[in-house]
Amino acid sequence: MESTRTPSAVSADVVVIGSGAGGAPLSARLARAGLKVTVLEAGLRHPPSSVATDEVAQAGLFWMDERLSAGRDPVAFGRNNSGCGVGGSTLHYTAYTPRAQPDDLRLHSEFGRGVDWPLDFGELERYYDEIEGFLGVSGPAEYPWGPPRRVPYPHPPLPLNGAAELMQRGCEALGLRTSAAANAALSRPQMQEGYGVRHACTHRGFCQAGCATGAKATMDITYLALAEAHGAQLLDGSYVTGLRRSGSRLTGVEYVRGGKEHVLTAGTVVLSAGAIETPRLLLEQGLANRSGQVGRNFMAHTGIQIWGQFAEAVRPNRGIPGSLISEDMHRVDGLVGGYLIQSIGVMPVTYATQFVRGTGTWGHALHEHMRGYNHVAGINILGECLPSEQNFLELSTEQDGRGRPKPRIHFSAGDNERRMTEHAEALMRRIWAAAGAQKVWAFPRAAHTIGTARMGHDPAASVVDPWGRAHDIRNLWISDNSTFPSALAANPALTIMALSLRTADHMLEQGAV
Ligand SMILES: Cc1cc2nc3c(=O)[nH]c(=O)nc-3n(C[C@H](O)[C@H](O)[C@H](O)COP(=O)(O)OP(=O)(O)OC[C@H]3O[C@@H](n4cnc5c(N)ncnc54)[C@H](O)[C@@H]3O)c2cc1C
Ligand code: SF4
Repeated sequence: MESTRTPSAVSADVVVIGSGAGGAPLSARLARAGLKVTVLEAGLRHPPSSVATDEVAQAGLFWMDERLSAGRDPVAFGRNNSGCGVGGSTLHYTAYTPRAQPDDLRLHSEFGRGVDWPLDFGELERYYDEIEGFLGVSGPAEYPWGPPRRVPYPHPPLPLNGAAELMQRGCEALGLRTSAAANAALSRPQMQEGYGVRHACTHRGFCQAGCATGAKATMDITYLALAEAHGAQLLDGSYVTGLRRSGSRLTGVEYVRGGKEHVLTAGTVVLSAGAIETPRLLLEQGLANRSGQVGRNFMAHTGIQIWGQFAEAVRPNRGIPGSLISEDMHRVDGLVGGYLIQSIGVMPVTYATQFVRGTGTWGHALHEHMRGYNHVAGINILGECLPSEQNFLELSTEQDGRGRPKPRIHFSAGDNERRMTEHAEALMRRIWAAAGAQKVWAFPRAAHTIGTARMGHDPAASVVDPWGRAHDIRNLWISDNSTFPSALAANPALTIMALSLRTADHMLEQGAV
């Protein structure tokens, strides 16, 4: 949906580039504190009323500009990638919102490999509590893993979809624990400040194509609505092309909107463009990189999927796709870190595309296979991915349509990731066999874009400090998936949001804005 709003601000206290899980909560916090906040978002507004139950029509929710992939295990981007629109990737995320576990943040202390985060679980916990309440996360009364919760989830869990019921059956047979997952979709209606009533989930199953009911907590109808209610200006279709600098400080940003170039001056700049576009902008502009760490340590969750064909109807496009979880593999003997297992819901075109990529099946055989679509079910893992020097983002010499160098992302799974994939594949094949699958196939893949501008205490080894402030440029902050020092065995959005609020509170406490 094209916005008719025109840019009115030429200056702001804070400009936030990108409106996803990293940019939105911070924008709301700073606007509520009375600061003049402008959010520049390259994509357009996609309110629930514009969302079609059609995954092809909804492709515009994804960042589809070309990204070049290199390395032994090149990462697929496109629809396996970041978002584009007001709300960023939350427009198409599945809304699984598990918390990181405390030991996820201490990999190096525990294993002598990977890195420790420069913060404790306790610093995230109070934000987890707050965000889950604000977004209206649906979740179980008792969660079997991690520290006991201080406050219950605000809404009861959503009903299981077909794949989740089968996963539950298979895990039970093997003695593995499962739980209804925490999901940032409403099982009951909720009043949302700045937006109005969000309806309960109708289980239409198209979360990755956008949510037409407003049940799913996308940033546009939650934190960005709150930010706008407190006076923030949100300019969609505003593509940032440059950061202006004078001496050791940034003075504003250059962006293109409606085919015209604009300049916005700002006292503080927050980069929330995601783990590809954030380092891309910094490398292009030659900024904040005295450490040489911008673009380094790209990570993607170890994410193999196992699919099975069942006699009973599964109807994989129905029901909430983010349904069931097991964290019993949080620690596995012989591996650094571990993984969680989750059930999958899948729309038909996405499924067919993955089946082609995973098996190389074409033509008549593909048609025949798709006749059985209503009987397939999938599970997958999200596993730790260790930071590695061989995995990085660089600028290529190829240019995109705007004349900007395309980013090239190198990724090769390390020994730990490969062994984790083998372990998970063997276990999930057993789960599907125990659940009664007739045919089983695997689709090895990597999920999520993580790292590339890591946080840390040491300016020689990190891009930003533990609160997201650039070591080299004191009025530049980063709030998105790029600051993660390690991948965490958990879906990232909740932790990105927690860090976003923590950064905003720190800015306010320090009088840094
Ligand atoms: C299919 C899919 C399902 C997922 N499901 C889950 C899930 O269930 N749970 C979970 O936790 N995570 C999930 N994720 C991952 C999660 O959504 C992302 O990791 C997270 O939302 C990233 O947040 P971010 O703020 O770092 O970046 P984004 O949300 O990608 O935000 C970046 C924003 O910046 C904008 N931008 C970029 N460059 C510019 C520029 N130059 N000028 C202006 N704007 C710019 C982009 O348009 C975008 O809107 C999923 C991802 C995919 C692909
Ligand atoms: S399944 Fe529920 S949360 Fe997902 S798109 Fe449908 S209504 Fe929205």
